[in-house]
Amino acid sequence: MATVRFAGATRRFDTSSAPAVDSLDIDIADGEFLVLVGPSGCGKSTSLRMLAGLEPVDEGTIYIDDEDMTRVAPRDRDVAMVFQNYALYPTMTVAQNMGFALRNAGVSRADTRKQVEEAARILQLEDLLGRKPSQLSGGQRQRVAMGRAIVRRPKVFCMDEPLSNLDAKLRVSTRGEIAGLQRRLGVTTVYVTHDQVEAMTMGTRVAVLKGGVLQQIAAPRELYDRPVNAFVAGFIGTPAMNLVEVPVDGGRAMVGTAGVDVPASLDGRDRILLGARPEALRVVGESEPGMEFVVDLVEELGAESFAYGSTESGERLAIRLDRAHSTAVGERLRVRHLDSEVHAFDTETGLRVD
Ligand code: ATP
Repeated sequence: MATVRFAGATRRFDTSSAPAVDSLDIDIADGEFLVLVGPSGCGKSTSLRMLAGLEPVDEGTIYIDDEDMTRVAPRDRDVAMVFQNYALYPTMTVAQNMGFALRNAGVSRADTRKQVEEAARILQLEDLLGRKPSQLSGGQRQRVAMGRAIVRRPKVFCMDEPLSNLDAKLRVSTRGEIAGLQRRLGVTTVYVTHDQVEAMTMGTRVAVLKGGVLQQIAAPRELYDRPVNAFVAGFIGTPAMNLVEVPVDGGRAMVGTAGVDVPASLDGRDRILLGARPEALRVVGESEPGMEFVVDLVEELGAESFAYGSTESGERLAIRLDRAHSTAVGERLRVRHLDSEVHAFDTETGLRVD
């Protein structure tokens, strides 16, 4: 049982440039599955490593269960780390790999065996306990790495891209397994990934980082429905939200020939950044107000498809079509947004303005 708190946690590798992690404030509830997500270099791993004690904290404090852990050695934090390169000891069996840390910590042989067997049962590794890592598939090795973390019964799991070495199909099934396992064990978990689908499907809450700065922390659905800025809007969702900068005139913004009422708070501005997700655009008839674009790529996924193209003014658009509709490269489509699903952002700051 553990809560985790980052309070102004900052890491500066180089005093002349911006911090890799800048004044991070996150409160994580007991039993929560928190995902840190963001593009390469945004500071996810550094944040996780500060929590695990593998990276010093230059400013701020890290608490586990309200206890200041900032200067506490990694082994005394009761945190178990699962890496993407889950290096297993090649000469040891699965059981030995899983029990190694316990034996090292002075746990008796009998108790170690009990805990390893219990973890193996949870992870469905019972039949593999006598095998060497070279006799396992990638997914099985990943489960052994998880097993090593579980047997310690830590207060907190820290996972750094644990699925990135698995093929696409295995990644999807293992992601469900890890999320289910975490729910059953109830161990507070901080999980790092650059994959926003992984973040959205696994996290009870997701924290989006950019350039070392926390942008938004929210439940997946809220992140999707109410991104606080244009960066989060564009980062979460595949294909990305369509973002189009348009003129504002008399309280209306014009998207092609379709108007959008803009919030009163925008009075006085002459331009605004509007966002609409691919599913918030509908194909309309020639004579209706809307925006025209020429399709240059179609992604057929079976249940749905996505059409990508450019408008006359060179804006890129992606729209979702359900299986009743189809299109082809070269076709000219007229689309219109659903009024209730339009997002508005400041063109300068990128901040949400409604
Ligand atoms: P990725 O998804 O690529 O792993 P990340 O979001 O986990 O990226 P970090 O590894 O936390 O990012 O790195 C954040 C920033 O700190 C990057 O600019 C990186 O170059 C820098 N950085 C990380 N480790 C070090 C180090 N040991 N020395 C100097 N700079 C570092």
